[in-house]
Amino acid sequence: MQAKQNMTTKILIWMCAGLILGSLINALASDVAFVQDYFVNGLFHVAGAIFINLLKMLVVPLVTFSLICGVCGLGDINKLGRVGLKAFLLFLLTTALAISLAIAVATLVGPGQGFELSNSATSNFTAPAAPPITQVFIDLVPSNPVAAYANGNMLQIIFFTILFAVSILMVGERARPIAEAAERLNEVMMQVVTVVMHIAPYGVFALMAKTFSLQGLGLILPMISYFAVVAVVLLLHAGGTLMVIFKLFSKLDPLIFLRKMRTAQIFAFSTSSSNATIPVTLRSVEKRLGVDNSTASFVVPFGATINMDGTAIMQGVATVFIANVYGIDLGLMGYLTVIGMAVLASIGTAGVPGVGLIMLAMVLNQVGLPVEGIALIMGVDRLLDMMRTAVNVTGDAAITTIVAKSEKNISMETFHDLNAGQVEEVHLPHASQLDGQNQK
Ligand code: ASP
Repeated sequence: MQAKQNMTTKILIWMCAGLILGSLINALASDVAFVQDYFVNGLFHVAGAIFINLLKMLVVPLVTFSLICGVCGLGDINKLGRVGLKAFLLFLLTTALAISLAIAVATLVGPGQGFELSNSATSNFTAPAAPPITQVFIDLVPSNPVAAYANGNMLQIIFFTILFAVSILMVGERARPIAEAAERLNEVMMQVVTVVMHIAPYGVFALMAKTFSLQGLGLILPMISYFAVVAVVLLLHAGGTLMVIFKLFSKLDPLIFLRKMRTAQIFAFSTSSSNATIPVTLRSVEKRLGVDNSTASFVVPFGATINMDGTAIMQGVATVFIANVYGIDLGLMGYLTVIGMAVLASIGTAGVPGVGLIMLAMVLNQVGLPVEGIALIMGVDRLLDMMRTAVNVTGDAAITTIVAKSEKNISMETFHDLNAGQVEEVHLPHASQLDGQNQK
């Protein structure tokens, strides 16, 4: 039991250690070539990048096998449509609430008012290209599934896999071995996730140490009002709005939910990517919260791609901040447009680091605010990206649990068992054991 509980705590401890070490390096050793070459750009960079690759490596096979199992497990195409529609509407609702709260709080606090705009601040920024909304819909359908897989395009992969799995159901008896194979492959992939989680503490440490030695905490100071408003609204949304919705719709205990989400939140925080966190979110939702694979396999990757509450919050506050800095009054219509655009923008962009800024460019363009304003908030975006990704992932898991509860696709016993699904020590079977099994 002791060893079980230690894993989340261990990751948390290593995360704090990385944060402290990184901040110290930033403050004291940013000019020391030895430290920069061998640690920041050496050890931390390599270990962190390997860890992110390990996580990303799991996403595509895990989502594919898990989704095939999920659809085949539902056994009913109508149910798939119902689950999808419920999840989609809840995703839209929470994102809209998130950005409305952000705009309301930011308008009250007024970050950026009286800000001295220096010319140099905006000169080094070129607006990133934002995809037009029509293209977002066209891009849902892959013209070549192999390319979609190779590029890790989640929405296209989800589209193709669902169609493939539905066809397995339609073919019936003769396709059953394929569904069974997917089930076993899914089990193996889940085990790979567990193995990767054992090295997570060190990966998280390296990522934190690198980020904070490059960024430092001092950067936050000039942007403190913007940073603080985003951070406070993120907390309000994750701990307040989302949990009220969770309680209202699922009648489950939000505290148990939050407690079991901790590991996924730490992964999201240190990787800044909901996509890379999918394996851990899936694991937490299925093994810790008790959600059945038939719901989780579909709603979690769907959410990681289209549901970004934390990102919407950043956009809401950033819009108000930039409007204040440039002395532009958006008016009610302007803000309503911002809400609509932010919700739409989150559908078309994947959960990867920094994508929130690209979406912000789309939003600013739409309401006629200068896109160069993004340069003002770029300095603190790395840290905010970490925080908002944790909120994004919490939203994905909350909606998955709500939908599973409404479909009676959740094990209440697992949900209430506080130790369910804790990562245990891995015991790799010895060759002799495997031989023994093969002979049976
Ligand atoms: N990094 C965020 C995510 O993966 C997206 C963003 O806000 O940039 O969810």
